[in-house]
Amino acid sequence: MAVNCKFMVLSIDGVPFGLMERMLREGVMLNLAGLVERWGMRQMRSVQPTVSCVAWSSYMTGCNPGKHGIFGFVDRRPHSYDLAFPNARMMAVENIWQVLSRADKRVFGMNVPATYPPRPVNGVLIGGFLAPTVDKAAYPAGVNDYLKSIDYQIDSDAALGRKDKRAMLVNLDKTLSKRMEAMFYFLEAERWDFFHTHIMGSDRINHFLLEKMEEGDAEFGPAFFDYYRKIDGYIGRLLEKTGSEAPLMIFSDHGFCPIKQEVQLSRYLIERGWTALADQVQHPLSINPEKSKAYCLIPGRVFVNLQGREPQGIVPIEEYQQTREALKRDLLELREPRTGDKVIEKVLMREELYWPRGCQGVCEVAPEQAARAEGTYGKAADLIAVPYDGYDLKLGLAGQVLFQKTELEGMHTYADAFMIARDVELPENDLEILMLARPILKRWGVEPPADMDGEGKAITNWN
Ligand SMILES: [Zn+2]
Repeated sequence: MAVNCKFMVLSIDGVPFGLMERMLREGVMLNLAGLVERWGMRQMRSVQPTVSCVAWSSYMTGCNPGKHGIFGFVDRRPHSYDLAFPNARMMAVENIWQVLSRADKRVFGMNVPATYPPRPVNGVLIGGFLAPTVDKAAYPAGVNDYLKSIDYQIDSDAALGRKDKRAMLVNLDKTLSKRMEAMFYFLEAERWDFFHTHIMGSDRINHFLLEKMEEGDAEFGPAFFDYYRKIDGYIGRLLEKTGSEAPLMIFSDHGFCPIKQEVQLSRYLIERGWTALADQVQHPLSINPEKSKAYCLIPGRVFVNLQGREPQGIVPIEEYQQTREALKRDLLELREPRTGDKVIEKVLMREELYWPRGCQGVCEVAPEQAARAEGTYGKAADLIAVPYDGYDLKLGLAGQVLFQKTELEGMHTYADAFMIARDVELPENDLEILMLARPILKRWGVEPPADMDGEGKAITNWN
């Protein structure tokens, strides 16, 4: 029986366009291939820095990070050297489930990063990997009882990727099958106007098995594709149930590539005299502020220790711009000693990459004004280092080595997410993830919030 769903979204975290092309060609994604044959597939750009929660925040708000306020997996608390783990509470603007709810649409969202804690909506919102337990994952709270009854998994156990890859695969399968069980349950339960389910396990398997897959490892190569074959099986069932007409988007939030080296960027800033360590290193911001002109957070987000902004800042505002120029030169000089290859492709100033609320598109913000900005925009890093694909920017504050290779096999890439859309009017050129909220709202004739980006000039223009 066909279910009653007017707009369906299935997001598959971190699947690169090129890998998807290969899996379509080689028959791994057979059901999806039928859809692509009719509707095509496009490449889509992510966000900077290319972190899932930043990308999904931009998707669900249609805004750049300068407006929604989520810049990474960890952020610096303003005016402090403390860390914050950004969640939906810190998102400064409404998400599409809320906007659609206000227009009386019936909405569903499950497992999308940066939706925990779930905001009240006209429907159901189930938080993603930051939800501590199933008891607290969903709005309305009654939904948690159902989730518990089927042993729903909020996320797979990422630590298994380093310890035991076979156990990781079993765990990924279970997480996926429970997610899909819940998806079909809710899909059949009532009529939906907007229904979005997210699969996170693809990001995990790409982090830990991407090289083995590419090298054609006898055990983990086929296991990698088996996981995607299972996703495709669920897609087949989904297509059957939703019919062949209803608007549908299947897409990822960023691409992936094999890691050549992990780069401990804090070590480099220490070597170059920018950062000095605290006597005891306890967390990523354990610096000695009296001796640090700059410090960083992953991936590649560099902050100036500015007088009057940071609690013990030492760089006067008059030296802000020259300090950033000097940092930029140093960052661009970083090379991998073994190959001599450059690590950093470009370094962007916060005002080149982000724009504040009340502003459409990258607008002129003078450096000193940018330095002193408050609110969501003021949370941005002062410089954002964008690496060449293959160099995964980490922190390594307390470690000894600058370059290393670990169990981690894949890293996120900016330029190559994929998008398959059936009967959805998307911008024709240069698709970016922050452009998706507008077409979804347009489908319903719902007016986008006044400050929403994603149209005309209001896109990333630094490429
Ligand atoms: Zn990831």
